[in-house]
Amino acid sequence: MLKGKTALVTGSTSGIGLGIALALARQGANIMLNGFGDIQGPKSEVAALGVQVDHHGADMSRASDIEDMVNATKARFGSVDILVNNAGIQHVSRIENFPVERWDAIIAINLTSAFHTTRLVLPGMLAANNGQGWGRIINVASVHGLVGSAEKSAYVAAKHGIVGLTKVTALENATTGVTCNAICPGWVLTPLVQKQVDARAAAGNISNADATRQLLAEKEPSLQFTTPEELGDLAVFFCSPAGNNVRGVAWNMDGGWAAQ
Ligand code: NAD
Repeated sequence: MLKGKTALVTGSTSGIGLGIALALARQGANIMLNGFGDIQGPKSEVAALGVQVDHHGADMSRASDIEDMVNATKARFGSVDILVNNAGIQHVSRIENFPVERWDAIIAINLTSAFHTTRLVLPGMLAANNGQGWGRIINVASVHGLVGSAEKSAYVAAKHGIVGLTKVTALENATTGVTCNAICPGWVLTPLVQKQVDARAAAGNISNADATRQLLAEKEPSLQFTTPEELGDLAVFFCSPAGNNVRGVAWNMDGGWAAQ
């Protein structure tokens, strides 16, 4: 379905971003990966699906790195047809103790980076398809873009912000072939959440399994993690023809978290 298209997925060396990159690659899209840590492993996983893949190491807190990444993607693949703004970090602390530097980093990586990538890819998307426009911008927000949780001030502010940015991006391009939507996962067992499970196990002097059960029971009625594969399939839906008129939604995949 996406053969010949190029997807730039930020923060895709791990977790949800990698899951979405693999789902888009399965549909034939070429992939520009981004993120830190092991790069060869994710690159090989994507390449095994028979598409072209590259990696750019842009630090998503730096506007100049982001500009370089978008230019490098266009130079390597010719265009950016699908943009997935996924890179994100977390820090858990009450507001009065929240390190200022962590606040700035979370807002920069989880929110401002999506403004930069979006403004840089939009002209190309609007010119695509003989000037009629074609593009998909998918923002990985969170259930924390819809509801709050204590001790996550910067994260909740950034995620509510990206849901707002999603709506404005969708509205400004509503008469074109460029859509913008957000995905709002509940708990997904990635390194970002494993750190929170570990902290809970240490604080309560309980096993990892008990800490995991507690974490789910507190917020997620299904008592199940959402998987990167499920989130990847939702991203594929947004890119499909059936998604042509889905504009500005913040779609939660959260086991009932926000329904309470
Ligand atoms: P993860 O830690 O597994 O992956 C984060 C990715 O972002 C990695 O590839 C990492 O290298 C990259 N990254 C981090 N800082 C970066 C930077 N400065 N520049 C470039 N890349 C950077 O986390 P995840 O759980 O897969 O999270 C991905 C997204 O999903 C985040 O936006 C997160 O807020 C969101 N999310 C996660 C959950 C969850 O339960 N795991 C729930 C809702 C939303």
